[in-house]
Amino acid sequence: MRYTSTRDRGGAEVGFRTAVFQGLAPDGGLFHPVGEVSVRGVLESLPRNAPFAEIAAAALQPLLAEEFSPERVARLAQEAFPFEPQLTSLHPRHHVLELFHGPSCAFKDFGASFLAHVMEDSLVEHNERAIILTATSGDTGSAVARAFFRRRNIEVVILYPSGRVSPLQEQQLTTLGENVTALEVSGSFDDCQRMVKEAFRDPALNERFRLTSANSINLGRLLPQALYYIAASVWFGLEPLSFCVPSGNFGNLTAGVLAWRWGLEVERFIAATNINDVVPEYLETGEYRPRPSAQTYANAMDVGDPSNFERLRLLFEEYGEDINAKLVGERVDDAETLAAMQRVRREYGVFLDPHTAIGFLAAERYLERSPRSAAPVVTLATAHPAKFLEVVEQATGERPEIPERLARTLQLPKQAVMVENTLAALSEVLNARYSR
Ligand SMILES: *Cc1c(COP(=O)(O)O)cnc(C)c1O
Repeated sequence: MRYTSTRDRGGAEVGFRTAVFQGLAPDGGLFHPVGEVSVRGVLESLPRNAPFAEIAAAALQPLLAEEFSPERVARLAQEAFPFEPQLTSLHPRHHVLELFHGPSCAFKDFGASFLAHVMEDSLVEHNERAIILTATSGDTGSAVARAFFRRRNIEVVILYPSGRVSPLQEQQLTTLGENVTALEVSGSFDDCQRMVKEAFRDPALNERFRLTSANSINLGRLLPQALYYIAASVWFGLEPLSFCVPSGNFGNLTAGVLAWRWGLEVERFIAATNINDVVPEYLETGEYRPRPSAQTYANAMDVGDPSNFERLRLLFEEYGEDINAKLVGERVDDAETLAAMQRVRREYGVFLDPHTAIGFLAAERYLERSPRSAAPVVTLATAHPAKFLEVVEQATGERPEIPERLARTLQLPKQAVMVENTLAALSEVLNARYSR
């Protein structure tokens, strides 16, 4: 499979590895697959109870065949996914796919871990080194830090806004050490992003170091996210399903649409958002109106101009499919989120984090107005409830149990480097740490 920019579909094609290390296409577009591929035959050959890593290896074969041998794909899948999604059922028509059993307790672990292993594999093979630069408002940084920790030939530098990430997120970012450096920037998340962008454009830095990114538009994070939709389908005996996806930048949902395009049977996708509802609004009105984001309890979904929308729209356009026939939007506000968290705890004995609660409520609304013959809905659970203790406690009056891997992180000493919000400050750290 080859890739071109979303903004120049007839333009230069690159392979997977090039797309991964470049991150963004040279014209500012996103890398996007060209041509058709089917995973259907591979899936039909798998037993219904196959473990996730085996399904992942099988599904990745046709996708990566051009650049990786089958043995290498199988090894990458084994090494990148020592954790699994878990299916639970609320009732016969509504299931939850828990994606928070990885090291940072959020679904972003799947994409980040696969990306880290692919990059390591390629750098070691060519005896090269790279520095990953990432700005984070919280969630992405913790997944990236954990995924790249101790990967060979890679240094990781994470910039986060001082005082503006949650205490748990800060612990997750700053306590690893070794090849992971956390920079506590005196400024906002926008300052962090600007510094990273300036670094990528700075001739002196780029001459000295190989700088690369790990953000959510990277194809190396998107592709592996298709794998858990595929796994859910295998575990349901390949019967048609609908998927409900709590969405912000729409990477997760776009990965599901890719899986459908590659041959997975999907009846509907439900795009669940908080009040930052540009995509549900687009589905209703046909107009895309990006705007500044508003703050909510589900802060990883506070996005006013989703970066993957470009890909999502193109996927439907190129498939000649009406986006409204496949995708429905649902918007859930903060009060409804809290009420859903409380109700799910009471009725099912389950704690949901605020992001997953939005997915839950959107799926229930969808099911209520669908005929009994509609496919069962699988709602993606994007974060562990213990990552959002305060909100969970506010909604339910109880505290969920904290998983061992999070509890351990909370006890480690913080190691962050304080820096000003300028490129000069970032350059100084890079030069002092990595010049040889
Ligand atoms: C990142 C994130 C989301 C949103 O995912 P997108 O791929 O940006 O749509 C939802 N929930 C949680 C917990 C997240 O961390």
